[in-house]
Amino acid sequence: MIRVQEYRPQAFTDFTKEENVKAYQEALAKVRAEIVGKHYTLIIDGQKVDTAERMVSLNPCDTDEVVGTTAAATKEHVDQAIAGAWKAFEGWKKWDMDARARILLKASAILKRRRLEACAIMSIEAGKNYAEADVEVAEAIDFLEYYARSAMKYAHFGSAETTWFEGEENGLMWIPLGVGVSISPWNFPAAIFLGMLAAPIVVGNCMVVKPADNAGVIAGFIADIMLEAGLPAGVLQFLPGHGSEIGDAMTGHPKTRFITFTGSVPVGLRIHEVAAKVQPGQKWIKRTVMELGGKDALIVDETADIENAVTSAVQSAFGFNGQKCSAMSRLIVVDDVYDEVVGKVVERAGKLTMGTGEENANVTAVISQKAFKSISEYQKVGAGEGKVLLGGEAPGEHNGKKGNYIQPTIIGDVDRNARISQEEIFGPVVAVFRAKDWQDALDIANSTVYGLTGGVCSNSRERLEEAREKFEVGNLYFNRKITGAIVGVQPFGGYNMSGTDSKAGGPDYLSNFMQLKTVTERW
Ligand code: NAD
Repeated sequence: MIRVQEYRPQAFTDFTKEENVKAYQEALAKVRAEIVGKHYTLIIDGQKVDTAERMVSLNPCDTDEVVGTTAAATKEHVDQAIAGAWKAFEGWKKWDMDARARILLKASAILKRRRLEACAIMSIEAGKNYAEADVEVAEAIDFLEYYARSAMKYAHFGSAETTWFEGEENGLMWIPLGVGVSISPWNFPAAIFLGMLAAPIVVGNCMVVKPADNAGVIAGFIADIMLEAGLPAGVLQFLPGHGSEIGDAMTGHPKTRFITFTGSVPVGLRIHEVAAKVQPGQKWIKRTVMELGGKDALIVDETADIENAVTSAVQSAFGFNGQKCSAMSRLIVVDDVYDEVVGKVVERAGKLTMGTGEENANVTAVISQKAFKSISEYQKVGAGEGKVLLGGEAPGEHNGKKGNYIQPTIIGDVDRNARISQEEIFGPVVAVFRAKDWQDALDIANSTVYGLTGGVCSNSRERLEEAREKFEVGNLYFNRKITGAIVGVQPFGGYNMSGTDSKAGGPDYLSNFMQLKTVTERW
């Protein structure tokens, strides 16, 4: 059993302190000198493998700048990586749980030392401002620390409870599944990428991991840390590549035992379908763990503390430009206080500064040209479906820099069945609804196929209790923002089309990657 203190989430950095801002700026300079422009290869069986094609990662806030490149895996690399991972599995599954957990703790120690560098990479590669990058790296460290400790409860025969029976010994054994595939999104390119590979690995699986197309540099940085921490060759196969080219090969492979995916609903459903089809030579039903999109709502009723509701709404909607699965894209306000609340939200959001992640602006550029086009299209759709109260433009440049800049946009008096009410936009665009009363507000909140996060700002005990029961989301927040779940504190995952509710950072998350064997011996 590893001897470590109880899990405690990492503290966040206080950027009102001058010394912390200075340290961050020094890290940006270091990353510009040492990492920007770097090339990351594939890693298969511990060896660096390069490809002729290079995937290029651009700075979203200055799209003339190349942040770095990665190799682009082909289907042959997928075959090689899966075969190598199965070989490595033979050894890895026999390691003591605590020895595997120590590798996570070592990786955490390295990442703590390099915390500011990881943040700085994400400011440049993803356009995260200081606080957004800081909370993400804190989350990445938390995943390592939390899963290292969680693994202990699966370590021994009999650690899951069974009932005593006369004349026999009965018990449950947890065993790893085998080789899994992990496919991650670009919006939490350090924390989600790392959490999704560390969890299955610590309990004895080997992983073939594909980071998102737009976040290869931070993924390469994180993969290097895991290898430096001591993972044996083949346990972590690093396979950057285009999802559209190698995705099906990874998820449809007959030797893929399970898939852990975080991303959009269409891609998630595609993976679900491909994984369900049994291939020649396949001898299991593939397990899929899916964390998908959201259309997250915050309800404000007439009993709410208005100032707190306004702060909650603005933070939830526009933190990292609304590019969080948990971001508030729907604000539902009860008629009595609609004008006051919406007026204040518009005023507050109108004061957000626009700029680059490196400048620590409130609102930066969205991740890619593809996202820019899609979000700006929704701005137009929204203008036809409601009243534009703020923004509505997508300038595509700022301060002379070409980038994927989109104005924070608020659209009022939207119908609950409008496209911008139902479809995930994944950018700084909020639809606002005027609810007749509390019941109507709750109906609007539950009127999409999604069920990821949601919130209520209210001082009515009855309504909060009703929401506890009826608001269909995996993560429900009262009287605060609806983003920013902390590992171990708010286990995270959604219902309905938002996913399989695996609850990352929760007490049972690791069991997604294990199977149980019941063993009975009659004396
Ligand atoms: P995406 O679905 O476009 O891509 C996710 C990953 O899937 C990428 O690595 C991509 O290359 C890969 N991919 C693409 N086609 C594939 C295929 N056919 N087979 C296998 N893999 C394929 O999502 P994104 O734009 O990277 O991320 C944003 C989405 O992720 C949003 O919908 C957001 O809500 C969701 N998200 C959900 C959570 C959560 O915990 N529920 C967290 C973060 C992001």
